[in-house]
Amino acid sequence: MINFQYARAKDVAEAIKMIAADPSARFIAGGTNLVDLMKYDVERPTRLIDISRLPLTEVTETDAGGLRVGALVPNSDLAWHPTVEKRYPIVSSAIQAGASQQLRNMASTGGNLLQRTRCAYFYDVALPCNKREPDSGCSAIDGFSRMHAILGTSKACIATHPSDMCVALAALDAVVHVAGPDGERTIALRDFHRLPGDTPQIDTNLAPNEIITAVELPAKGFAKNYSYLKIRDRLSYAFALISVAAALELDGTKIKDARLALGGVAHKPWRDDAAEAELNGKEATRETFALAADVLLRDAKGYAGNTFKIELSRRAIVRALTQAANGTPQSQSNKQIR
Ligand code: SF4
Repeated sequence: MINFQYARAKDVAEAIKMIAADPSARFIAGGTNLVDLMKYDVERPTRLIDISRLPLTEVTETDAGGLRVGALVPNSDLAWHPTVEKRYPIVSSAIQAGASQQLRNMASTGGNLLQRTRCAYFYDVALPCNKREPDSGCSAIDGFSRMHAILGTSKACIATHPSDMCVALAALDAVVHVAGPDGERTIALRDFHRLPGDTPQIDTNLAPNEIITAVELPAKGFAKNYSYLKIRDRLSYAFALISVAAALELDGTKIKDARLALGGVAHKPWRDDAAEAELNGKEATRETFALAADVLLRDAKGYAGNTFKIELSRRAIVRALTQAANGTPQSQSNKQIR
């Protein structure tokens, strides 16, 4: 770990000014990922800008009937917020599937979006990694790839995005509010994270001099028919091999509106319009769900250690959609897969 300076921003405008003035500075809120990265020498910021006391901790109703979640709302508070539990239970479920209670207490909403991959090679500075050191090579492609991506990969990187919460937010069409020197703008959550391409070192479409101020949930929360199914190597405190956020609006036995997002399979939460088109207007049956899974996985590619994830994803999609259709969402408290 290197020596670094510490400064605290008193408001959003000052935070933007401070980050714009120092490209090697980093914002810190909960620090649940950044501090680890600094200990491992992966991140070497010359300055930490503490944003933990900025007034971004409110959850408020929007005029459009949705919810605006301040970027510094802790993950635990969001998961247990009465309105979120009632109207957006898929978000509560996804958050509770991630990390540990202690980490969820510290981690912020904005920080959850910006957490970095848990590819082991990214954290090992003795080994090549294009994300950590551009053009150094990717150790995972011919290495240990059990946790790695099967969709949207590139020759440069096959890492996955580790968040659970973002998978549910992508399914709901959440929007990210950001602010920078040129003012405020919004980015659709599903466009917030990037595929690796030739520049795996860039995780998101947030500019280096911008700050996340809020995440907005649209009015539609799919509270009746949803499921967040997470498949992992142990039953708690583990990242997803595969996760599925499934949300359905039903008209009798027919699907009126379907949302399907996958975690643990790509460099970003994975949405696929063609797969959702296979669901919309169809009967909510196992056959329909299996067809949608086939469409979503049509370009899936396995590596030495993760080819099993293609079939596992197919089964997880069918199971999550079945749970959603039946109104029997995955329980995060007893972890039983129903
Ligand atoms: Fe680095 Fe990405 Fe390869 Fe992992 S998969 S070693 S993060 S380049």
